[in-house]
Amino acid sequence: MLEEIFSELRKHYDPDSWWPAESSFEVAVGAVLTQNTNWNNVKKAINNLKELGALSPLGVLNLEEHQLLKAIRPAGFYTRKLMTLREIARFFLEFNPKEKTEELRNKLLSLKGIGKETADSILLYAFEKPVFVVDAYTLRFLKRYGLEIRMNYNGVQSLFHKVFPVDAGLFKELHALIVEHSKALCRKTPRCRECFLKKCKKAPKYGAFR
Ligand code: SF4
Repeated sequence: MLEEIFSELRKHYDPDSWWPAESSFEVAVGAVLTQNTNWNNVKKAINNLKELGALSPLGVLNLEEHQLLKAIRPAGFYTRKLMTLREIARFFLEFNPKEKTEELRNKLLSLKGIGKETADSILLYAFEKPVFVVDAYTLRFLKRYGLEIRMNYNGVQSLFHKVFPVDAGLFKELHALIVEHSKALCRKTPRCRECFLKKCKKAPKYGAFR
């Protein structure tokens, strides 16, 4: 069923499946800063770091605490994010890119402030590792579709790793298609009447699609 869904989505959307960044470290910084905020706020914080010449692991670590706080303030939750950015900066100075994906993932998950979605975003978009990123859009969309799977992070990720070839480019594309559809039609209040996917078992009643 998942293959059919994505084949339909591909007919309607052609989203960018890349992460807007100039370096793998910038991807990781973006993945941390985007927690609980929108991308416009992240862009402001990243631009502040660029203006300070601090968008690098050493750059982040060498900034005074008050400078770093001021730079990332637009992204919110800045005290917590400051701690996580420093952890990520140290990780980038020490990690071995040849390490197995699972080992890198475990190391990322051991850092303060890094959960599964952030760790997997870094693995996929910064390091091109083939891991499917499960975000709130993905869980909402699949739940409405009524797929009979465990609707938690691990359950959804395992399903994608089983159904599709384990490939970084493909996982980026699938994620981008879900995001695109979730912004266009399968919104918080879904626009089911306009939707080309008509087989949702659990579409909310306020968005009745029949
Ligand atoms: S029919 Fe409604 S709930 Fe189903 S994918 Fe489309 S917008 Fe979402």
